[in-house]
Amino acid sequence: MNIHEYQAKQIFAKYGVPAPRGFIANTPAQALKNAQELGGKVWVVKAQIHAGGRGLGGGVKIVHSLSDVKKAATELLGMTLVTHQTGPEGKLVRKVYVEEGIKIVDELYLSIVLDRAIEMPIILALKEGGVDIETVAAKSPEKIIKIPIDPDFGYQGYQGRELVFALGIKDKREQYKLQNFVKALYNLYIENDVQMVEINPLVKTKTGSFLALDAKLQFDDSAMARHPEFEEMRDIHEENADEREASLYGLSYISLEGEIGCMVNGAGLAMGTMDTINYMGGNPANFLDVGGNANPEAVAKGFEIILRNKNVKAIFINIFGGIVRCDRIANGIIEATKTVEVNVPVVVRLDGTNAIEAADILRHANIDNIITATDLADGAKKAVEAANNSQGKK
Ligand code: ADP
Ligand code: MG
Repeated sequence: MNIHEYQAKQIFAKYGVPAPRGFIANTPAQALKNAQELGGKVWVVKAQIHAGGRGLGGGVKIVHSLSDVKKAATELLGMTLVTHQTGPEGKLVRKVYVEEGIKIVDELYLSIVLDRAIEMPIILALKEGGVDIETVAAKSPEKIIKIPIDPDFGYQGYQGRELVFALGIKDKREQYKLQNFVKALYNLYIENDVQMVEINPLVKTKTGSFLALDAKLQFDDSAMARHPEFEEMRDIHEENADEREASLYGLSYISLEGEIGCMVNGAGLAMGTMDTINYMGGNPANFLDVGGNANPEAVAKGFEIILRNKNVKAIFINIFGGIVRCDRIANGIIEATKTVEVNVPVVVRLDGTNAIEAADILRHANIDNIITATDLADGAKKAVEAANNSQGKK
C-alpha cells in the first residue's frame, strides 16, 4: 500500500526523521491559511498524488508571496497531473501540501528497500539526489551505494559511518546528523513493515542540517493486518478499482496489457500460465489467482472483472484441483455465464480432483463459447488462437 508524501512526512515526524514543516489543504483558502501559519517568505505547493516526477510535470510550485500560494493551489487542485510515472492519463489532484521553501545546498538520494535476492533490507544512496534511481541503476550502477542491514542485528553504527564516508561527507557534525537521520529512518522502516521508503532528494541546508524534501513510503500489504492505524491513510482514489474489488472477494487480481484474460488457482500456476501464453505468442491481460477455496461467487466475480477489460479477446481458465475441486469451478463458470454476458471464447482446462465430473458438467451445460483443453500447453495454444480469431469481433 502506498501513501501520500504528506502522510509519509507525518510518520517521519514521529520517528525523528527531519522534513520541512508543512500542512495539507484541499481548497485554495486552506492552502493560504497554511502558508500564513508557516510564515516565512518562500513556500512550496505540492500536488499530492501517488506518483513521482511531479516537479517535472508541473506539480510542484515554488512561490514567493501569499497570493501566489493561493494561485498555485487553485491551479493544482482539480488538475490532472501527468508525470512519467502516471501514464498518459495522469492523476487527478485532490490535495496539495503547502511546505516551507528550503534553500538547498546539496541534494542526495536515500532509500531503504527489501532486497529479495539477499533477503534483507538494504540502504541505497547516491551523491546526486533528484535523479531517477532506475536510470542510474541502468546506466551507472557503480554509483549506487548499497548497505545491507541484517535484520537480526539491526542497524549498526559502523554502517552509518560507511554510508557518510561513501557519500563524501567530511564535516563531523554533518556526519553525525546524517547518521542519526538514517538510524531513525531504519527504525521507521523495520517497525512498520515498510517495503520501501525513498527520500529523493534528501537535502543539506545552509546550516548543515539534513531534511527529507520528498517522501515516498510503501507498506507491505501482507503485513497490513498488524497496522490497522494505517488503514485510514489509504486513498482509494489512487488504487486500481478492479484490483480493490477483487481483493474484497479474496481474489488476487492485477491488470496487465495483453488480450488474454486468465483465471488460475495458485500464484505459481498463474505465473506459469502467463509464461506459457507468452510462449505461444499471446499476451496475458491480467494476473488472477482465485485462491485455494474459490466459490462460484468468486469465480463469477473474477469473470466480471476480467470482462470489464475491453482488451480481452479470449479467456483462459486453468485450474488444477487440489484443495479446490474442479466440479465447483465448473459450476462457478456456469453460474457466471448466467449473470455476466461472456462475449469472448473461453478456453477451460480443469485437471486434478473431480476433473471428470467437471468436464461432464460443462458438456451438459451446453454453453456457447467454451473450448475445452487437455493440458496447460494445449490450453494456452487454444487461447492464443481464439484471441487471434476473435480479434476485432468485439
Ligand atoms: P517529485 O519527486 O515528485 O518531482 P519532489 O518532492 O522531489 O517531487 O520535488 C521536486 C523538486 O522540487 C525537488 O527536487 C526540489 O528541487 C523542489 N522542492 C520540493 N520541495 C521543496 C521545498 N520544500 N523547498 C524547496 N524546494 C523544494
Ligand atoms: Mg522527488
